[in-house]
Amino acid sequence: MTVASYYRATLPPIAERAAVQGRVEAEVCVIGGGYAGLNTALGLAERGVAGVALIEAQTLGHGASGRNGGFVFGGYSRGEDALLRELGPERARALYAGTTDAVELIRSRIHRHGLECDAVEAGVIWANWFRDPEVLRSRQRLLAERYGADWRWLAQEDLRALVRSQRYHDGLFEPQAFHFHPLKYAHGLASLAERAGVAVHERTPATALRREGALWRVTTPQGEIAARQVVLACGGYLAGLSARVDAGVMPIATYVMVTEPLGARLDEALRTRAAVYDTRFAFDYYRPLPDTRLLWGGRISVLDRSPAAVERLLRRDLLKVFPQLEGVRVEQAWSGLMSYARHQMPQIGQVEDGLWLAQAFGGHGVAPTTHAGEVLAAAIAHGDPRWREFAPYGLVSALKPAGLLGAQLSYSWAQFKDLWKDWSEGKRA
Ligand SMILES: Cc1cc2nc3c(=O)[nH]c(=O)nc-3n(C[C@H](O)[C@H](O)[C@H](O)COP(=O)(O)OP(=O)(O)OC[C@H]3O[C@@H](n4cnc5c(N)ncnc54)[C@H](O)[C@@H]3O)c2cc1C
Repeated sequence: MTVASYYRATLPPIAERAAVQGRVEAEVCVIGGGYAGLNTALGLAERGVAGVALIEAQTLGHGASGRNGGFVFGGYSRGEDALLRELGPERARALYAGTTDAVELIRSRIHRHGLECDAVEAGVIWANWFRDPEVLRSRQRLLAERYGADWRWLAQEDLRALVRSQRYHDGLFEPQAFHFHPLKYAHGLASLAERAGVAVHERTPATALRREGALWRVTTPQGEIAARQVVLACGGYLAGLSARVDAGVMPIATYVMVTEPLGARLDEALRTRAAVYDTRFAFDYYRPLPDTRLLWGGRISVLDRSPAAVERLLRRDLLKVFPQLEGVRVEQAWSGLMSYARHQMPQIGQVEDGLWLAQAFGGHGVAPTTHAGEVLAAAIAHGDPRWREFAPYGLVSALKPAGLLGAQLSYSWAQFKDLWKDWSEGKRA
């Protein structure tokens, strides 16, 4: 098994963008070359803002955006029922619609600009690990009645014809969702942003940030950027620029592995090209890749494990679902850091005059980062107040290090509850 991710191994050769050298002036400096930063920079340029510079500490998509499961679907890490309770029907619906619109925006950017990112238009299946169908029924109802989203019922026999596992009972199908190669897409976004006039710099970590008069000064190893506005978009990779901003998120690891090409064997497990995840708190997520490999992800932990340890854990999970894949070779395994706020919603908005933030997208960030980019770009370009819709989910402290322990304990507790439910339904773990 190799250490590099499948995504990096299959990225066409792309010249690295030059690091910032010397003094640079910008209207807006975006810090972080993941989806939150890239979408904001692109959104600004699309709205006619000139002088946008984006800096990335490593290479574009180095963080979660270049390592994720590749599911492009609506919603947030926080459940739709909680949003409804906390915000009421109108505001909850508006926030949710931001993410489904974002799925369409991603799709239209891919098609309009011919972005090569192995997009597979086959939807996403939410498979019920448990016998009790109520969790599916109530979510389907809630989505239809309150959010206008049509998730289709998959009866057990229909699901099992598509996903050849005895583990699942029934499922829901989200037809508007799709899956893609996330790192290729990140580079696609960067090239669109550059074409629209954004200056993109790799290997340029921001090491300090200070206010001087009307300007923000961003220090980098070989230079400095003076900008009227700064956007912090550093996810779980914590910028180290503002203690209050870093204190708002817990970096949580999750794991992915990719098998060898399975050829006809893939059909023994999957007769669909949809991506799949399940109803447990600690769910598996997987999808067939265009070259017949299976990409498999799961688990969350405060530990960033070695590729060999990731493979050991995930292989066990894979064989629980598809024992028929015993013996398949795993070619890559890796981990990535998500950023979670205590309220499980993204933190989007202005934290000080001219200092903006987009972080804490959790494990459900492809569409929400796209929405965040639109909202922030509109706010900076022409004072659009929509970012205030996220105000109920502000920059609260993640209470580290106790919060990390709390996160690990509540994950273990949720896993225990899943096992208990399994046991009470007569299944063995
Ligand atoms: C393994 C995994 C699987 C996932 N699967 C899915 C999925 O299938 N679907 C889904 O919707 N979501 C998924 N997610 C979540 C999703 O990937 C994230 O929510 C999203 O990519 C977050 O984007 P971001 O831009 O906020 O952060 P990131 O992509 O982490 O980007 C932050 C960037 O900031 C840079 N940075 C940090 N500090 C500095 C600094 N000081 N100066 C300059 N640059 C800096 C980092 O190097 C990094 O590149 C997954 C996440 C992981 C880790």
